[in-house]
Amino acid sequence: AEVRSITVLGATGSIGESTMDLLRGAPERYRVEALTGNSNVQGLAKLAREFKPGFVAVADPARLNELRDALVGTGIACGAGESAIIEAAARPADWVMAAVSGAAGLKPALAAVDRGATVALANKECLVCAGDFFMQRAAQAGACILPADSEHNALFQALSSGNREELVRVIITASGGPFRTWAAADIEQATLAQALKHPNWSMGQKITIDSASMMNKGLEVIEASYLFALSPDEIDVLVHPQSIVHGMVEFSDRSVVAQLGAPDMRIPIAHCLGWPDRIAGPSARLDLAKIGTLTFEAPDFVRFPGLRLAYDSLRTGRGATTVYNAANEVAVAAFAAGQIRFGAIARLVEATLEHWTRSGNQAPLTSADDAIAIDHDARKTAAGLLPQIAAKAS
Ligand code: NDP
Ligand code: MG
Repeated sequence: AEVRSITVLGATGSIGESTMDLLRGAPERYRVEALTGNSNVQGLAKLAREFKPGFVAVADPARLNELRDALVGTGIACGAGESAIIEAAARPADWVMAAVSGAAGLKPALAAVDRGATVALANKECLVCAGDFFMQRAAQAGACILPADSEHNALFQALSSGNREELVRVIITASGGPFRTWAAADIEQATLAQALKHPNWSMGQKITIDSASMMNKGLEVIEASYLFALSPDEIDVLVHPQSIVHGMVEFSDRSVVAQLGAPDMRIPIAHCLGWPDRIAGPSARLDLAKIGTLTFEAPDFVRFPGLRLAYDSLRTGRGATTVYNAANEVAVAAFAAGQIRFGAIARLVEATLEHWTRSGNQAPLTSADDAIAIDHDARKTAAGLLPQIAAKAS
C-alpha cells in the first residue's frame, strides 16, 4: 500500500491522542506532515520527536521560543500563532484530522478543505459556526469530509445502506451524561467536578461539560443537519446510557440500520483513517453478551434546554447556530471559571439568541468572515449579558 501523509490539527488533545495512537500502530503506512497544538509545547515536542513531521505549530504566539528550544537538534520547522496553524493545515497532506476544540478550528479546517484534502472532522463547532457554507466550500474544492464524531461517523456508515429519497430520519444517541437522572434543581447547582465525570467517554474538558448540559447533543444535531443536508425534523435524539449504538438511519421500508461499537473514539477515527477501506482498530472487541442490556429513552428537553435551543436555532437559520455555538463557548468558559452556575449555561445561550433575534442583523452566511463576524458579535453579547445572568438565581 502507498504511504499516506497525515496532518493532525489539535494533536495534543484527546482526539489527537487517539489519532496518534492509531498512527503509531502502522508506522509503515503513514508519514506525518504536520502537527499542531495550542499551548502544550512539551507534549507537542514529544510527539514531534516520535513522528518526525516536517512542521509543527502552536496557536499561542508567545510560545515560539519555547517550541524552538524544545525542537533543537531535530531539524523540524516550527511556527506559532493562528497563521502558523493555518500554514500547517495548508501543507500538502493527503489526510487531515481537524481536532482543534471550538470555533478556533474553523480557519485551519477551511485551509485543509480548500486544497481538496480528505478531512476527518472532529471539530463540530466549526460546522455549527459556519453552517452549510463550510460544506459548499468542501464541494467546490473537491474535499472529502469524513465525520469523526462517533454519532456522525455511525450515520455516515449506515447511510450507505440506502438512497437519499428513501431516508425517513436519522437518530443520534446520547449517553445522557452524568446528570441524566438528576432533578432540574440539582442540575442547576451542579459543580465543575460533577460535570467533568462523564459515565462512558474520556474527552477534553469543553466537550465533557457540553455532554453534561446536552449542549453537545445540540451541537451534534446541527452538525448532522449540515453534514448530511437534513432538516431538523429528519434528526432525532435518543438517550442510550450504554453508548454502544452510536447512530441509526431509518429508511422508507422501516428498516433501521445502526452502527455499534464500544465507546472508544479510536473506532470512528480508524474508520476515517482507513476509508474507503477498513484498517485495524483497537484490540478490544465488543462483547454484547457481557454488556447484556441496551436501553433507550426519550430526551428531556425541559431539564436539558440546550437541546431545545439547538433545534430552535437550526429552524431559525441565517447565523443562529453560529450564535448558539459562540454563546455556549462563552458560557462554558464562565462556568469552568466559577462565574456562573451550571444551569446558567443554557440561560446565557438563550438570552444571547434572543438578543441577536431582536437586533435584526441576520443574513445568510456567505463567507468564513461572515461566520467569524457573527461569532465575535455573539461572544461580545454573551460576555455583556454574563453579569446579569450570573446574578439572577433561577
Ligand atoms: P481537547 O481540549 O482535548 O484538545 C483540543 C486540541 O486543540 C488540543 O490539541 C489543543 O492544544 C488545541 N487547541 C485548543 N485551542 C486552540 C486554538 N485556539 N487554536 C489551535 N489549537 C487549539 O479537545 P478534544 O480532543 O476533546 O476535542 C477536539 C474537538 O473534537 C472538539 O471540537 C470536540 O467537540 C470534538 N470531539 C471530541 C470528542 C472526544 O471524544 N474528545 C468526540 C467527538 C468530537 P493544547 O493541548 O496545547 O491545549
Ligand atoms: Mg459525538
